[in-house]
Parts: sequence; structure tokens; C-alpha cells
Amino acid sequence: MADYQYDVAVLGGGPGGYVAAIKAAQNGKKVALVEKSFLGGTCLNIGCIPTKALLAAAEVLRSTKSARDFGVNVEGVSYDFGKMMARKERVVKQLRGGVEFLMKKNTITVYNGAGALTGTHAIGNGPDGPTVASTVALNLPNGLWVRGDGTVYVLDTGNAKVRRLDTNGLMTTLFTDSKGISNGRGLWVKDDERLIYYASNSNLRQWTPGGGTKTLNGNFNNLGNLIVSGTNIVATDRGANIVWLVNTNNGNSTVLFGNGGTNAVVDGTLAATNSLYDVRGIWQPPIGGYFLATGLGAQLLYVDTAGVVHMVVNGSSNAHAGDGNWFYHLPASAKFGQLRSVSMDRQGNLLIVENDVGFVRRIDFRRLTP
Ligand SMILES: Cc1cc2nc3c(=O)[nH]c(=O)nc-3n(C[C@H](O)[C@H](O)[C@H](O)COP(=O)(O)OP(=O)(O)OC[C@H]3O[C@@H](n4cnc5c(N)ncnc54)[C@H](O)[C@@H]3O)c2cc1C
Repeated sequence: MADYQYDVAVLGGGPGGYVAAIKAAQNGKKVALVEKSFLGGTCLNIGCIPTKALLAAAEVLRSTKSARDFGVNVEGVSYDFGKMMARKERVVKQLRGGVEFLMKKNTITVYNGAGALTGTHAIGNGPDGPTVASTVALNLPNGLWVRGDGTVYVLDTGNAKVRRLDTNGLMTTLFTDSKGISNGRGLWVKDDERLIYYASNSNLRQWTPGGGTKTLNGNFNNLGNLIVSGTNIVATDRGANIVWLVNTNNGNSTVLFGNGGTNAVVDGTLAATNSLYDVRGIWQPPIGGYFLATGLGAQLLYVDTAGVVHMVVNGSSNAHAGDGNWFYHLPASAKFGQLRSVSMDRQGNLLIVENDVGFVRRIDFRRLTP
């Protein structure tokens, strides 16, 4: 097992999953646990524990109301449902903290996200399926798209395929691009799978079930990631240091952000007039605007809806620091190495891939008021 990072990976941090993870760790295994929502699973977060906490509150109310039968005089009994819910939340949080503590104590690495089983650890061109994904060999899988229900799409560049990994663990090829896919990182799949956009080096391509594959625009330098916003594709071009807006109807591209340069970003100025050195990652948060992640620039940026760029976290090549601190702690010190992509989980935490130093990191979302 020397080539594997973990001996055991557990999907799901409910009572079944976290107990299995602890047992495996206690038996000397190196364990990872992947949880897409909250540690403790149904039981702790929305099942046994919260229901019992609310039942306990209801029981206190009932006893108090019937106190007179016991010779105890209580006047003006009323209840505050908000406070009952707040107590329930405190109980859940405390117990969830207990599970987190158990994970740390048993040196179990917890990953916050949806887990899936795929790949064979060997390069190849696995069957087009539907096939159990853990038996499907891939070749340079380089791009990823995740649908809201947890279905995962993989840009298997070496095999020039887009494959679907469903939530039952089965992998199915959606199509093969006969022109090949090179350096493909960007992938976007419409929820009904009737439209797919993907990047292949200087080409932005499209696939539909009726029309097959076609190049929408082949004039980029070296594309990174892409998202779809309305009737436009927003694509990073790491070779040109530009973020492009591409019209999905005719493939025409216009510069959205970046002046093509490689200088440092000037905080608080227009993103269109700034250098976005080796820009690769892009994510559109629900509040609008875009998060951008630069590779050689090693910066996480937010471009607001007025097009003004804000430095979120600064970095430099091979830098990696600041774990456990607020991200603006010691602002002069570089916190990130070269970034490859930025995304967001369902709780609003930012996820960043730090390529040169080899980390996936999370910037926790913290609500400032309850
Ligand atoms: C209202 C209610 C009250 C209950 N009361 C009781 C009770 O009093 N006593 C009792 O014994 N039982 C009770 N139960 C049942 C109990 O909650 C379940 O039996 C128990 O939670 C099952 O544990 P589990 O680990 O198998 O699954 P879950 O607790 O459901 O945990 C599964 C976890 O896996 C995660 N997950 C799923 N897919 C993925 C993926 N692909 N990647 C990463 N993570 C993933 C989920 O987010 C979840 O956290 C209650 C259930 C409900 C709904």
C-alpha cells in the first residue's frame, strides 16, 4: 500500500461512518473520512439528537403545566420556540464537536465534500459502462464538474472522453471527442446533460447529443477553467492571463478581466486593467461577481459586481502558511502557493487547490451575526 495516501477511506460521517473510521484507526490504519454535510450524520444533526432535545423541552413544558396537580404553584407558563430551537442547536453543535474531537484524537483526516469511488490507480481506457467506477481505468483525468445532486463528471483527457460518475458509483461515458482533448481542465455540464462545454488547450468546445462535438472558438492561448453565466461562458486563459466572456450562440470572445500582463494586482482597481498572472480558477458565488485564482500570481481574488478586484489572500510560489488563522492574519506574509482552482461548498466555504505545495485548503465561511 506504499503508493496510497490512506489505507481506508470512509464515505459519510454518520454513526456508521465515524465509528468505522475510529475502529480502522484504532487497528493501525491510516484513515480518511469524507463527509458532504456535517459530521454526525442524520442521527446527530437532524435525527435522534435534535428530536430528543426538542422532546425534552416539550416534556418540561408539560410537567410545568401540570405542576399544580403536584401541589406546585406556577403562574403564567408560556414557551419560546426560538429558545427551544437555539438550545437544540447548542446540543447538536456540542456533540458534533465531540465527534470532531474523536476524529482528531484518532488522527483521522476529515474531508468536507462529496466522496466518490473512481479510478484503478493504473492508466488505461476503461469501459464506457455503466461500470463500477473503481474498476474503470482513466488516462490523465484533468477536469471535473459536480452537479447539485452529487453526480460527478470527469474530463478524461487522455481518452478524450467525458464520463459521468453517478451517485450509485457507476461510471458511464457520455461521449468521445474524435479530435482528442489536450490539456483540458475546464468542464461544465448542464443539469439535464444535453449541453456540455469543455476546454482543450486553445479550443473551447461544445457537445450536444444531436450535434456531437464542435469547436466554439479555437483562438485562445491555453484555457484553464470555465463556468457558465447566463448565455455566456466565462473562461480563464492561463496562457494569455485573461478571463474571457464567450458568447454561447456564436463563440465570439471579449475580454472580461485582465490586461494580459504579469504584474501584481492593484487592490481596489478595475479587474479589466489588472494583470492576472496565469489565471486558472474561477467561481461565481451566489452574491454575484467572481472569485479568481491565479497560478504563477498565487493570488485568490474577488471581482465584485462593479468589476473591481479585491485581494482575498495573497501568496507566492511554494508558500504555504496560515492554517487555523483568519485569512487576513499577518497580511504581509504569503499564505498560498500557486493556485489551480477555486470552488465553494454548500456551506459557503471556499475550497482552493494549491498545486506547487500540494494542498487542498478551505477558507471557512463564518457568519458574523447569528
Ligand atoms: C427524525 C429521526 C429520528 C431518529 N431517531 C433515532 C433514535 O432515536 N434512535 C436511533 O437509534 N435512530 C434514530 N434515527 C435513525 C438514525 O438517525 C440512523 O439510523 C442513523 O443516522 C444511521 O447512520 P448512518 O451512519 O448509517 O447514516 P447517516 O447518519 O445518514 O449518515 C450518512 C452520512 O453520509 C454522508 N454522505 C452520504 N453520501 C456521501 C458521499 N457520497 N460523500 C460524503 N458523504 C456522504 C451524509 O451527509 C451523512 O452525514 C432517527 C432518524 C430520524 C430521521
